[in-house]
Amino acid sequence: MEQDTPQRIGVFGGTFDPIHFGHLAIALEVRHQLELDRMLLVVANDPWQKTVFNSVTPAGFRFEMVEAAVSAVNETVGATVLEASDQEIRRGGETYTADTLAALGSESVGAELFVVVGSDIAASLDTWERPEEVQRLATTVVAERGGNAGGRPPQGWEHVVVEVPALEISSTDIRNRFRNGRPVQALVPPGVIDYVMSNGLYGSAR
Ligand code: ATP
Repeated sequence: MEQDTPQRIGVFGGTFDPIHFGHLAIALEVRHQLELDRMLLVVANDPWQKTVFNSVTPAGFRFEMVEAAVSAVNETVGATVLEASDQEIRRGGETYTADTLAALGSESVGAELFVVVGSDIAASLDTWERPEEVQRLATTVVAERGGNAGGRPPQGWEHVVVEVPALEISSTDIRNRFRNGRPVQALVPPGVIDYVMSNGLYGSAR
């Protein structure tokens, strides 16, 4: 039986291919500034807007990397501040945030949901599946990097802006770095680097 239903839940979805310190900075900062009870890093099963153009690493690998990163943070803090969610992977198929929010809403009745996006994708929120449902089910949070006015949601889309430390890190750059043997230690948590190397992801080799 569920006790003490948490009231404010952050939903930070991503491909996380792989997760990096930019993602963790957003998740921690938004959780702190909005005083959330839970912050979920939700790993997309099939990020269809990306897989149209490129393939992504199988979801199981991406999820385990998020788990490794999140556990290291929680261990350092000494509390569960971040959680890895495999909800979208278990549901399978193309990933729609509207479905994720609906499922969370029925699991945690009465909870207030916050869907977190980087300012680089905020302007494209209308291209998501059932955008009106996303707006109805959650408050949109735009994570803005270091006060640089970035993209905003389309007109009429209610949102709050949270300023996060500017870390110019992208998963695309990190995949290239692994492939080319360039340094990643300041960009990716150590547990994730170990995981990438031991599974030979991104063309890395020990
Ligand atoms: P890729 O380079 O493969 O496109 P990515 O680094 O943008 O990946 P995603 O997993 O696609 O990572 O991003 C998930 C979310 O994190 C998105 O909302 C994106 O805007 C945001 N994000 C990613 N990197 C950063 C960063 N360095 N600072 C702020 N937001 C970021």
